[in-house]
Amino acid sequence: MEIVTTVAQVRERVKTWRKEGQTIGLVPTMGYLHEGHGSLITKARENNDKVVVSIFVNPMQFGPTEDLASYPRDLEKDSAFCESLGADLIFHPEPEEMYHKGFSSYVDMSILTEELCGLSRPVHFRGVCTVVSKLFHIVTPDRAYFGEKDAQQLAVIKHMVDDLNMDIEIIGCPIVREADGLAKSSRNTYLSPEERKAALVLSQSIRLGEEMVKNGERDAAKVIDAMTKKIESEPLAKIDYVKIVDALTMQQIPKIDRSILCAIAVYIGSTRLIDNFHASIEPCETN
Ligand code: AMP
Repeated sequence: MEIVTTVAQVRERVKTWRKEGQTIGLVPTMGYLHEGHGSLITKARENNDKVVVSIFVNPMQFGPTEDLASYPRDLEKDSAFCESLGADLIFHPEPEEMYHKGFSSYVDMSILTEELCGLSRPVHFRGVCTVVSKLFHIVTPDRAYFGEKDAQQLAVIKHMVDDLNMDIEIIGCPIVREADGLAKSSRNTYLSPEERKAALVLSQSIRLGEEMVKNGERDAAKVIDAMTKKIESEPLAKIDYVKIVDALTMQQIPKIDRSILCAIAVYIGSTRLIDNFHASIEPCETN
């Protein structure tokens, strides 16, 4: 496995692979890797001849008051992890390599980014779409792998690829959790031991909502209300949002009568964590 830092180096490797007829899988990440990222790399390893992992804390997707400077970084540990999973190349550029002086082209998206994290983090998805587009142009993968943990991001990327006719298959991978249910996240490292315990309220409320829907509840407000109460029972938790949206359009819906995404964002102390569940309801199952 090799670590490269420039676009030219990636292009050179990709050119050779293409000449040999090799397929390429890309796993875009911000590093500080854990088993959630690992599941994406493993999936990419299964389906492609070559696997590229990008590790780039993308300044463009962070708002001015967010945690860009403190975001955890550990390239040495990350590269050992990628190597152990059989990745072929890590692309680890500096911000200046991705955004040269005078950079002024962006990929933006409407509708799908109006709700959920797009509402709380106004510049986030413009940053995500721009950097992912750039990575797609640099690596030219056959397939790219994203986690369902960031469900809105996955929907946005799928939509972008479709809108802009990018010839790349987008593969969504299930949420990987800690043994006690907390969704794995690089940001979990911010939590104090007391906050780590409190953070369990996210997965607990997700399980509660999921059970209600499984048991036939079709009124979105009732599910949201129960989940909200559960989260509010934890004194260290502060809700950013608890919402149920159409899984394709990301628009809020009052009735659970289709493929839906129930997504939450909750501050535990000053750490913002997210979680979600999907449900697919046939229209005839509603009353
Ligand atoms: P990040 O480094 O947080 O930008 O995440 C890089 C990719 O890993 C994204 O596609 C995430 O959705 C995915 N990911 C992060 N955490 C998890 C998790 N717990 N389970 C599955 N995928 C994850």
